[in-house]
Amino acid sequence: MRTSQMLIPTLREEPGEAETVSHRLMLRAGMIRKVAAGIYTYLPLGLRVIRKVEAIIREEMNRAGAQELLMPIASPAELWRETGRWDFYGKELLRFKDRHERDFCLGPTHEEVITDLIRREVRSYRQLPLNCYQIQTKFRDEIRPRFGLMRGREFIMKDAYSFDRDEAGATVSYQKMYDAYHRIFTRCGLTFRAVEADTGLIGGTSSHEFMVLADTGEETILYADQGTYAANVERAEVLPPTETTTESPRPLRKVPTPGARTVEEVTALLKIAPQQLVKTMLYRTAKDTVAVLVRGDHEVNEIKVKKLLGVVEIELASPDKVAAVTGAPVGFAGPVGLRGTRILADQAVKALRNFVVGGNETDTHYVDANWERDFAVEQFADLRNARAGDPSPTGQGRLRVARGIEVGHVFMLGAKYSQSMKATFLDPQGQETMAVMGCYGIGVGRTAASAIEQNHDAKGIIWPAPIAPFHVHLLPLSQSAAVTEATRSLYDLLTQAGIEVLWDDRDERAGVKFNDADLIGAPCHLIVGEKGLAQGLVELKRRKTGEATRLPQDQVLTQVQAMLANLPKT
Ligand code: ATP
Ligand code: MG
Repeated sequence: MRTSQMLIPTLREEPGEAETVSHRLMLRAGMIRKVAAGIYTYLPLGLRVIRKVEAIIREEMNRAGAQELLMPIASPAELWRETGRWDFYGKELLRFKDRHERDFCLGPTHEEVITDLIRREVRSYRQLPLNCYQIQTKFRDEIRPRFGLMRGREFIMKDAYSFDRDEAGATVSYQKMYDAYHRIFTRCGLTFRAVEADTGLIGGTSSHEFMVLADTGEETILYADQGTYAANVERAEVLPPTETTTESPRPLRKVPTPGARTVEEVTALLKIAPQQLVKTMLYRTAKDTVAVLVRGDHEVNEIKVKKLLGVVEIELASPDKVAAVTGAPVGFAGPVGLRGTRILADQAVKALRNFVVGGNETDTHYVDANWERDFAVEQFADLRNARAGDPSPTGQGRLRVARGIEVGHVFMLGAKYSQSMKATFLDPQGQETMAVMGCYGIGVGRTAASAIEQNHDAKGIIWPAPIAPFHVHLLPLSQSAAVTEATRSLYDLLTQAGIEVLWDDRDERAGVKFNDADLIGAPCHLIVGEKGLAQGLVELKRRKTGEATRLPQDQVLTQVQAMLANLPKT
């Protein structure tokens, strides 16, 4: 392809709207343009990358025995009402009415639609197992769309759904997808980790997230320094504390703490360590207000709280609510004398004696509080986020922390949807049996963006070869007949060998071409200049290292092939 014939609007300036490297570089390299918040047009270069990621996914899904179909973007409310998700999904579900006033939504995921298909078409155990997938545009009205393709509202997803005769079969299907995901992300040239994950809105029994490791990732991962344990912080278990205290309880005292609300302020004022303070966090559920106690140096894990309470939503109580419940402004809430509110506490609190808590009075805290004596805890449980240094829940080694971008997710759904939608089949004995399901997603645009997060430098993108928009960026440095002729023959030579070449045929200065080539990030740059050509030489440069060699034209093909072969392969 020739640059002059392609729409590649590169930007020299930093786009103001971009917050992450991948977002900035995709805009600057002319790959995407914003249409509305979280809604983008993929320009030709961007689309080439998307299509390459899709091709890898498609090959590996097919290899794993899944079959491709395509479901509609619009889906009728009735299906969502059957599973209860019409109400449950909340504002992420973009709803609309058709001309007959019928309710529809734009599909954020397709469990309902696929389960409806399968319950109609599958009658017998002989038709199972089945795994169907699609690569399709999803819409989720994300509260905070950001980082370009990383968290869009409209985005391309590969979603697959497996249906099995029983749990054992479902476990096999799950493992096949897990293995396929390993191959997909490896082929995309990414450094990633599969971690245990929470099952979130979709629910189910077991799940892994595939995380691309990157400092800009929104997810926190904990992994053991020994063994293979790795989990999303949402899920990572904390073992009960092993330390015990021999301190005897001292009398409870109320102390003035003027203006001291935060852990830092209170501990500084009282000259204590954060471990000697217990924070009281008030949460609202649909029914009531719950106090959650954690040690001053720990963070509440809201997902664990939700699980313990068996509710889908909790939110921190508003300042007004805190005042109404405790009689004091935010920062002074405490469990002593708290009325009409259930108290849950993290297991670490159980091991404490003589700790500090809020006094439920402005500018006041209690010191030497003791839970056995001063307030009633309804339940102690693991309610905090795991953190670096915690013992691994497997008992092997300690946990470390990394940041990650969730590019894929595999779920064991069990009978969640087959039950609510009555997706049954007849088993060999003629019994109606519930299909056991799994679902498996990959964010296509997010995968492309995370490849940039992992592979870039100050000048631009450094694409892993298998998903690069082009393999070779061909850069003639003049418009002379000799250079143009040599460039054309190199273009033909490489193209005929199946190598994808972007030929910068613009009448631009060398500097402009080099800058654009570095920004766009094809793995090989091939430079054709007047002087070199006079000696029969062209220059081949590796984008990643900048290392350049001059070579005769007849060696170009083998050298390019060698260079591409040394890069992650398709
Ligand atoms: P997140 O926690 O990041 O919102 P999710 O758990 O909602 O993700 P899933 O429902 O598991 O995501 O969707 C499957 C895959 O789709 C994710 O692993 C991710 O790669 C991609 N994805 C999800 N939401 C978005 C989005 N808003 N923009 C781009 N890709 C997305
Ligand atoms: Mg989400």
